[in-house]
Amino acid sequence: MPHMITDACAQCGLCVDVCPISAISPGDPIYVIDDTCCDFMECVAECPEEAIVPIPDWEETGAAPNTEGRS
Ligand code: SF4
Ligand code: SF4
Repeated sequence: MPHMITDACAQCGLCVDVCPISAISPGDPIYVIDDTCCDFMECVAECPEEAIVPIPDWEETGAAPNTEGRS
């Protein structure tokens, strides 16, 4: 399932370099994952803030999803 970045994002940029398909980019104010995400999961392990979550799970985190760039 695609992943999203929540507002726990500290804008460190670490996830950008590990995504093999460059699906992550800086957003405003937090980073964003676009619709090309196909769940390689490297970014999830890299994020020090645990801000990257599968879309069906984000509601359980209590954090707001960053929907910028998503259709
Ligand atoms: S889950 Fe995989 S494809 Fe999606 S943004 Fe993270 S590293 Fe990229
Ligand atoms: S690694 Fe986590 S905290 Fe850093 S920019 Fe990516 S989502 Fe945000």
